[in-house]
Amino acid sequence: MCKCAKISIEDVSYRSVGMNQTAYHKECGEDLSPIQVSIIDKQRINEWGLA
Ligand SMILES: [Zn+2]
Repeated sequence: MCKCAKISIEDVSYRSVGMNQTAYHKECGEDLSPIQVSIIDKQRINEWGLA
C-alpha cells in the first residue's frame, strides 16, 4: 500500500481488480490507502466543484 506523504489527483490512476476499481499511485505503483482515497476524493470535489 502506498505510503507516500503527498499525492495529487494527477498521480492517481485506476485499475480493475475483479469487479472493483482500485485507485493506485502511479509514482510507486502501490494501491492507495483508504485515507488517501478520501483525500483524493476531497481534492476532486474541490477541483470540479462537485460538493
Ligand atoms: Zn505512492
